[in-house]
Amino acid sequence: MIYYGCPRCQAPMASPDGMAGQSDTCPNCGNVALVPEPASINPPVQAELSSRTAIEVSGQSASSQPPARILWEGVPSWKGSISLYILCGLLLFIGLIMCFVLPDIGSGMFVMAASSLGILLSEIGRRCTRYRVTDQMIQKKTGIFSRHLTEIPVAHLREVRMQQDIMGRLLDVGGLGFSTSASSNMEIVWRSIEHPQALQKMIWKLIRN
Ligand SMILES: [Zn+2]
Repeated sequence: MIYYGCPRCQAPMASPDGMAGQSDTCPNCGNVALVPEPASINPPVQAELSSRTAIEVSGQSASSQPPARILWEGVPSWKGSISLYILCGLLLFIGLIMCFVLPDIGSGMFVMAASSLGILLSEIGRRCTRYRVTDQMIQKKTGIFSRHLTEIPVAHLREVRMQQDIMGRLLDVGGLGFSTSASSNMEIVWRSIEHPQALQKMIWKLIRN
């Protein structure tokens, strides 16, 4: 299986090895993309991270196991916090009005500081979360000072479930849940992923491969 991204919409794609050099249709936007040769897929981010991942993933036996190959990596999309951004933007605007129209500079500054803090905290939370698919593991990393890693071996995956509301469908964002059994409780939950449907398809192909 060859893993790559759609040149038009960046949705994750997976095509059988035999299709290298031929074209395949993006499950997300319908764009017909050229399937790259396996050797030519070497995006800079992958090259930069692969050596580090090899140590993290294989743990104590770093030398005996082949290094994990990163097939997809992402952070929660800002689109998942769009209602918070709209609310904070509105508060910022109200703060400006309080400062210059009323004028009540003290209260206006307070409202603006509170809304800025809301955006800042949301951004920090977003950037401190990282999701990754390697050829061996499904991973979720969280934390600012101490990184917390949760992972499920791809070979043990039994369920990949997508959660998407109406807003998510409009913005093409949604959550993915991963489980090692067919039960309803998900062991790893990814929130606000862009192109969740394409990614879910890619992961199913990885499992069945
Ligand atoms: Zn596409």
